[in-house]
Amino acid sequence: MKSRLGSSYPAFLDSLQEPAPVSIRYNIRKLARPPGNEIPWCKTGRYLDERPSFTLDPLFHAGGYYVQEASSMLLEQAVRQTCDLTKPLIALDLCAAPGGKSTHLLSLLPQDSLLISNEVIRSRASVLTENIEKWGCDNVIVTNNDPSDFGRLPEFFDLILIDAPCSGEGLFRKEPESIEEWSPKNVEWCSLRQRRIISDVWSSLKPGGAMIYSTCTYSEKENLENLDWFAGQQALKFENIALDPDWGVSALSTKSATAYQAFPHCLKGEGFFFSVVRKSGNAVGKKIRTKDTLRYPAKAELSTVLNWVHEPESRLFFLYDQQIRMIHDTLQDFLRIALGKLHVVHAGIAVGEIMKNRIVPDHGLALSTALNKSNLSTISVDTAQALDYLRKNSLNLTSPQTGFHIVEFQGLGLGWVNMLAGRINNLYPSGRRILMK
Ligand code: SAM
Repeated sequence: MKSRLGSSYPAFLDSLQEPAPVSIRYNIRKLARPPGNEIPWCKTGRYLDERPSFTLDPLFHAGGYYVQEASSMLLEQAVRQTCDLTKPLIALDLCAAPGGKSTHLLSLLPQDSLLISNEVIRSRASVLTENIEKWGCDNVIVTNNDPSDFGRLPEFFDLILIDAPCSGEGLFRKEPESIEEWSPKNVEWCSLRQRRIISDVWSSLKPGGAMIYSTCTYSEKENLENLDWFAGQQALKFENIALDPDWGVSALSTKSATAYQAFPHCLKGEGFFFSVVRKSGNAVGKKIRTKDTLRYPAKAELSTVLNWVHEPESRLFFLYDQQIRMIHDTLQDFLRIALGKLHVVHAGIAVGEIMKNRIVPDHGLALSTALNKSNLSTISVDTAQALDYLRKNSLNLTSPQTGFHIVEFQGLGLGWVNMLAGRINNLYPSGRRILMK
């Protein structure tokens, strides 16, 4: 870094002694007018003056915002400047857990686009699913696949994001444990793994499509050297991204590659690196054959859930074990392909579970932006009641009716309770309850 940064090296070192800035990105489909100090490159990003306890904020659990490092929100510029956002896109976030960039993509892409949000490590795919569910969109499928599995979907995606696992040099002050894991050998190993990941997924990008490659490291081996290596293998073109000089992002280049790096001494954020390449050629649209394994709910089951969502006519309702789920109607062919070719762990919105002769509304529906509250009972709670609910403590809530009620905080759904004569069943998922006192 000393030889790379020259006279600005001391400022870089000093910045690593400063506390990492705190920032969040709002879910614009849930909170339309986010307050606070705007992050210039991301419309919904905000800096906070201090770090609150996010765990004890019900809006965080309602999917009102995502806690995310500010530099990585530069993804917004890469997407806005290289993708045609006036038409639906098919996008893949290949290394997606815990879901920062996937939730950002869901806010940026047109609503009838499809996002496949993939994570290779099973336990991390569960965390990803939880965060995706909180965001409340029905145009997303979460998969648990190795990058090489995407070879089954040739020329399928308009946009692929590879936010690659890396040596984490750009996170040293935010996540000090990454210092312990760092070694020259690890950098070498990360670089080779990144090359394998890029090569594995390239065939599933449409000609003319865009691939965003990003890391949170300064390592040239993992960044520019990998891009140079890849440019030598494939027909592609690097995209220029116009970034306001006042933002302090550095443009980097080699003979073949163009890329962008954030440094903590030049802006309020960590060491995010990104580059966008466009695959040469024109998309012809390859047909992918797959078995149709979709099953549908019976008419009577369907008639109940149709009342629970806005614009039911624009959604496809399908069965997933005993669950009724929904996805944007225009995405049904893609859903069939994903179910046939990938290991799908979550698809669309879980609306309700068929239990004997009734349907129990699902947690995912309470978090969904498609929830139609006008046909359902609602209980509004204050902060203390919301925290009791999220901790699965006993509740002191009343309602003139019995049956399922949405528990809402400041207008956002947190989950469900079942009001019975003399008792309240708290239906918040046990595995997600707050343990912090
Ligand atoms: N994009 C995420 C976000 O914004 O929240 C962060 C992704 S993190 C930098 C990289 C991810 O790649 C991790 O979730 C990690 O489990 C996953 N990963 C690890 N090894 C991988 C591999 N060989 N292929 C694909 N992904 C891998």
